[in-house]
Amino acid sequence: MTLLELARKEGKAKVAIAARVDGVVTDLARPLPDGAKVEWVLPSDPDGVEVLRHSTAHVMAAAVKELFPEALITIGPAIENGFYYDFDVETPFTPEDLVRIEERMREIVKADHPFVREEATKGQARVLFPGEPYKEELLADIPDETVSLYRMGNFLDLCRGPHVPGTARVGAFHLMNTAGAYWRGDSKNKMLTRIYGIAFASKKELDEHLRILEEIKKRDHRKIGRELDLFSVTDEIGPGLILWHPKGSVVRRVMEDFWREEHAKAGYDLVFSPHIARLDLWRISGHTDFYRQAMFSPIDVEGQEYQLKPMNCPFHIQIYKSRMRSYRDLPIRYAELGTVYRYEPSGTLHGLLRVRGFTQDDAHLFLRPDQLDDEIFTLLDFTLFVLRAFGFERYDIYLSTRPEKYAGSLEHWDLAESALRKALERKGIPFEVDPGEGVFYGPKIDIKIKDMLGRSWQCSTIQVDFNNPERFDATYVADDGAPRRAIMIHRALMGSLERFFGVLVEHYAGAFPVWLAPVQADVVPVTEKQNAFAGEVVAMLRAGGFRSEGDFRNEKLGYKIRESQMNKVPYALVVGEREAEVKMVSPRRRGGEQLPPMPVEAFIERLRGESVNRTE
Ligand SMILES: [Zn+2]
Ligand SMILES: [Zn+2]
Repeated sequence: MTLLELARKEGKAKVAIAARVDGVVTDLARPLPDGAKVEWVLPSDPDGVEVLRHSTAHVMAAAVKELFPEALITIGPAIENGFYYDFDVETPFTPEDLVRIEERMREIVKADHPFVREEATKGQARVLFPGEPYKEELLADIPDETVSLYRMGNFLDLCRGPHVPGTARVGAFHLMNTAGAYWRGDSKNKMLTRIYGIAFASKKELDEHLRILEEIKKRDHRKIGRELDLFSVTDEIGPGLILWHPKGSVVRRVMEDFWREEHAKAGYDLVFSPHIARLDLWRISGHTDFYRQAMFSPIDVEGQEYQLKPMNCPFHIQIYKSRMRSYRDLPIRYAELGTVYRYEPSGTLHGLLRVRGFTQDDAHLFLRPDQLDDEIFTLLDFTLFVLRAFGFERYDIYLSTRPEKYAGSLEHWDLAESALRKALERKGIPFEVDPGEGVFYGPKIDIKIKDMLGRSWQCSTIQVDFNNPERFDATYVADDGAPRRAIMIHRALMGSLERFFGVLVEHYAGAFPVWLAPVQADVVPVTEKQNAFAGEVVAMLRAGGFRSEGDFRNEKLGYKIRESQMNKVPYALVVGEREAEVKMVSPRRRGGEQLPPMPVEAFIERLRGESVNRTE
């Protein structure tokens, strides 16, 4: 009896697309082994959707071979959200080609060709793929003597399987785009043309995925950054180096002011340090050994080598070491918005998210061992408070442990890992262990924030370090008068201001909450007759500490309001004849909601309330 026959008997033939036989996902056409444990695989299961996606890749390859017989076939795996197949073709497929291929795929689906598994020796298989050199190469690499082939309609492919029973059972799919891809991912090999498709068990899921992709495109911080005039990257300055335009700079200043204020309240000392330092400093810190590939080349200054700083740590250690420290002085917390420079290959740079120069909201804490647990606990609280203020309420937390390449003693590593773990447990928040993902000098807690679309972004990090205090001999005088080694914590909450700003832009789609918005209220006179009063309103708002601009152009009211809305300004204050007479404004929210006319002072109070509540 085949699995399909069993499925029919159990009334599952219509829903199951494969079976898990003793844990192994298997074609329904295969025989039912004696005494095997069988579970049905549905298209909605993670295993099922993978079978479905991979089967769709076969359907696509079949369609391509029919339309472009000269195309050479290679491989076509399932991937997240879909599948791809790589072809060797003279000229890459055009978007019109993709439309034709997709149409042909729909015909193949309609014909409901079964996927038929065949087995052959490698010698026999070679004959079955005439003029397909990639299949020949794949065959040569398979260690087994017998290989499996799948026939679907006229299309034969070398494949391990499993697949859906017939083409009618593939789900909802759509071809997305093409890309160049080297054969076997090796740039020494020939460049192939890859077609990407998405595939889901239902049309509803496919549509939802397309909607999210559309939303991601709309929220792209590079696009919004251009539209709202927030920042730019130019060839003249160099890739990965950010120019903050006035509007973006306002947001940055607000972020920085908030950060400085809260750090002062939390007992941090704010410091500044230079952008370059002698290379020797980085030898002591271990960066030249462990971090060289991320550093720019040293600069020769009067025969001495200087290094553009990739990190702020050694500077803060030098400040700590500038005088004798007593156990009573600790903890000492130095915080700096420190700009660092790291070498990233140009191909990996991406808007604000991956750059070569960025400002870390960095801090280094110097502690006694007995302070470690409490300090980490307080720090966790502080981190989550800052993230919440920016509107991030959801996050994933990871505890990253000792990597293969590490500095320092095992004993110290264990102590540091346990301190981090204890803080997380005490705080009662779920976390995952990320084995081997710690920094070379110590373990860390990483917090990945989740944005509006549920995407994760690595931002905050808390790292314990016993190694640098040893390398730099950072000590304090203990209560018994003897010198003791301090423990260091490195931490950044937003991580990089550039990156965090990029995430904020995408999270809010450029519509920043009132406290962050570059302009908080546009004042819009209905006619030129109200320009004088509108000017007064702008002045009052500015005097109250708010960011306001007046639109005094001789344009229609609707046009000016639309433009304010396009600039994502939280409020447009309409000032007409009546408002000017009684010294009131008619606020209109960015979303279109019209508020009743109110005195300017009342509106200022409203803004003040929304700025304090931050996430409003
Ligand atoms: Zn296959
Ligand atoms: Zn550091």
